[in-house]
Amino acid sequence: MSLKEFNSLSKNFNLTSRFPVIFIGHGNPMNVIMDNSFTRSLSGLGKSFKEKPNAILVVSAHWLTNGTHVMVSAKPKTIHDFGGFPEELYQIQYPAPGYPELAKELKHFVSATQLIDDEQWGLDHGAWTVLKHMFPEATIPVFQLSIDASKSPDFHFKLATELTVIREKGVLIIGSGNIVHNLYKMDFDLEAKPFDWAIDFDEIVKMKLLKREFEDLINYDTLGQAAKLSIPTNDHYLPMLYTLGLSEKKEELKFIFEEIQNASISMRCFQIG
Ligand code: ZN
Repeated sequence: MSLKEFNSLSKNFNLTSRFPVIFIGHGNPMNVIMDNSFTRSLSGLGKSFKEKPNAILVVSAHWLTNGTHVMVSAKPKTIHDFGGFPEELYQIQYPAPGYPELAKELKHFVSATQLIDDEQWGLDHGAWTVLKHMFPEATIPVFQLSIDASKSPDFHFKLATELTVIREKGVLIIGSGNIVHNLYKMDFDLEAKPFDWAIDFDEIVKMKLLKREFEDLINYDTLGQAAKLSIPTNDHYLPMLYTLGLSEKKEELKFIFEEIQNASISMRCFQIG
């Protein structure tokens, strides 16, 4: 599809200006039923946009695949992809519509890989636990892009740069993961005292974001022991690289929330643009 054809698909969009791109540290699924400073910041964020996005694309830490899949369900199911939580969490639904027409068009903009249409996937908890606070009415169409677990951090950053075209059409793109995410060391108390290395690495990333040292963030394995402890597996870190790849050089970057929950999970969230 050419850009002209994409313009024709998007001619019914209400909003035709570039939408900010955001990264959300989603953390513990329990946040979805809590009222705390993190969840209030998400509600505030949802209300902060002057206009509603035409659609929302989420790159979640919880959809890892072989190859990059794009969710094309018209009515995505709410996936309760966790175990051992209270029954109340399993009852929650986020009945937003999908956007198959837009989702299927993404492949025409991406040269880094061949996107695979996926009818099976719905919304995983990296998406719905966040959206439930941001847009509780669940009326904005949502779809997801998976993370190809076989690929390098640099691949994910470059793939993201190819998706900026839909930002320009008023689509909100959310990377949903956590900058520091070590479940082996976590404390079940949300308010447990954070580990020093978790505070240190969260601060390193904060400074590199402000200085736009994205190359260092892509090569996070060179950032020392605090990085090793903060990223034992990179599934929750990679969504941030999508947010960075989607940003333009001169756009403003602002932090929406910062805190360490469960001693080893950074809830840092930021917005670009
Ligand atoms: Zn998670």
